[in-house]
Amino acid sequence: MIFLQNVLFGPAGYPEAAQGNLKRVFEILVDAGVNALEYAAVHGLRTTEEKAKQIGNLAQESGIAMSMHAAYYINLASKDPEIRERSRQRLIKALKFAPLMGVQRIVFHPGIQGGMTPDEAHIVVRDSLRSIWEEIGSQPRGIFLAPEIAGKIVMYGSVEQIIGLCQDVEGCIPTVDWAHLYARSQGQMNDGESYRKVLTKFEDALGSLFINNMHFHISGITFTERGEASHKPLGEEWGPDLYPLIEIIHEVGYKPTFICESPNPLRGALYAKYIFEQIEKGK
Ligand SMILES: [Zn+2]
Repeated sequence: MIFLQNVLFGPAGYPEAAQGNLKRVFEILVDAGVNALEYAAVHGLRTTEEKAKQIGNLAQESGIAMSMHAAYYINLASKDPEIRERSRQRLIKALKFAPLMGVQRIVFHPGIQGGMTPDEAHIVVRDSLRSIWEEIGSQPRGIFLAPEIAGKIVMYGSVEQIIGLCQDVEGCIPTVDWAHLYARSQGQMNDGESYRKVLTKFEDALGSLFINNMHFHISGITFTERGEASHKPLGEEWGPDLYPLIEIIHEVGYKPTFICESPNPLRGALYAKYIFEQIEKGK
């Protein structure tokens, strides 16, 4: 598959200028020169099978690698078994639609660890994810569940927790959100040395599963002592500093997909791509 041989860039969600017109969405992405799109099902997956197939076809024709961001209100770490079950069903639905849409990675936030110790939360989330694969029968070819590093400290999703999940559950890869890491670490995770440490941690723990399926989120961000506050544009006054990260990616030859989640995410994706190309040219 050609996708994995290149570093990919793309926005989270449809470009606004497309005004929801599917054909326009893909035309705009191709014209802009990006090659990935994270379909936003953040308020629930509200699409028909027919539309999902149309998205899949357009993505394939346009050479756009697809991922999906599942609903924000998924909470596999809830104490309430009903909420856990509803969350599980949302991921199962996403997994059923993914092959139609050409989606290979389903990004989700595991949840808020309300009233559980981190170890208890881990067991509950792990067992939920395992039971999803059991219910589906088997992991559809090349489709991964991609739990994300959380921006808020109260949420399940530290580096160690996400690594633990990916080790304990088949078919899971990490979504490394660099803005969330920056917010969680109170702005510490902002230079080459810190980035290298995190990448090494993932690589040591997950090996080729990580290296062959690197899925990154990028954005500017503000934070409080509780973690993430709000997403901000890239390349302006807000951290984290993307440049040293892209330098490392280029130097090592990693092939991640960068999904930009800032306001105007297409512009942000192009900004990251521009940095990568400048580094490539040796500037
Ligand atoms: Zn994210």
